[in-house]
Amino acid sequence: SKKIVIKIGSNTLANQDGTICKSFLQNLSKQVSCLKEEGKQVVIVSSGARIAGVATLAKWMRKEDIHYKQALCAIGQVELMDAYRRVFEEEHIHIGQMLLTRDDFLDPHRTLNIRNTLFTLVDEGVVPIINENDTVSVEEIKIGDNDTLAALTTNLWNADLLILFSDIDGIYNKNPKTYANAELIEEVTDIDELLKTIEIGTVNDFGTGGIATKIEAAKKVNTYGIPMILANGKKENILLRLLDGTEKATVFLVN
Ligand code: ADP
Repeated sequence: SKKIVIKIGSNTLANQDGTICKSFLQNLSKQVSCLKEEGKQVVIVSSGARIAGVATLAKWMRKEDIHYKQALCAIGQVELMDAYRRVFEEEHIHIGQMLLTRDDFLDPHRTLNIRNTLFTLVDEGVVPIINENDTVSVEEIKIGDNDTLAALTTNLWNADLLILFSDIDGIYNKNPKTYANAELIEEVTDIDELLKTIEIGTVNDFGTGGIATKIEAAKKVNTYGIPMILANGKKENILLRLLDGTEKATVFLVN
């Protein structure tokens, strides 16, 4: 795979207390640097703006008002990009921020503009870091979760592979956080069949989409002939290990 989209979930990016996990980001930038040296191209879709906002302004934490949520994202997005910029700078890699909304994928003119910007950034060696533009996206018009945003981006960029990082090794037959005997499903060739055989549990901590949106994302990219991997982003050198086949995960193959 030459063109890889990597989606980083909030649970992967944040420590238990909600602060951004610096060692995770450092390991990520080192691995992206390795991939770039091998001639691969990387686009990142990253969650975490809201948590970063909460960690910065704890006094607002309990407010559920929509404008407070959006305000937290506005604050947190800066923290998030600051953290990315610092670690990628150590690898001499420039990053670029793209904040997108659902409309950007519905209006052909806007879609074309994003596509051109994305290709230009990557061609120039920049790593684009994409997130939903939460300050303009109210609930009704939201993409809603970054699994979906990552899938839309993967198809838009015509990538060769989508990797979703979460805090579990992949899809299990039941929630591994609840059941110690849950079994990892390593290969999926038929998504409808998968849905009949697994139990989808609830999301904990900072998660939003849960497993359902990850399976939907696989469907979206598989339709375009692109495979998807769901893996545990918390593991050291996971990107490199996935690509050389030394790490277990769930791979959604295209048949
Ligand atoms: P992220 O924030 O990393 O995108 P989420 O927290 O939204 O991820 O979703 C992942 C969570 O889904 C896991 O931590 C796990 O507890 C839960 N989950 C529920 N059912 C399953 C299942 N069948 N297989 C794997 N994970 C599951």
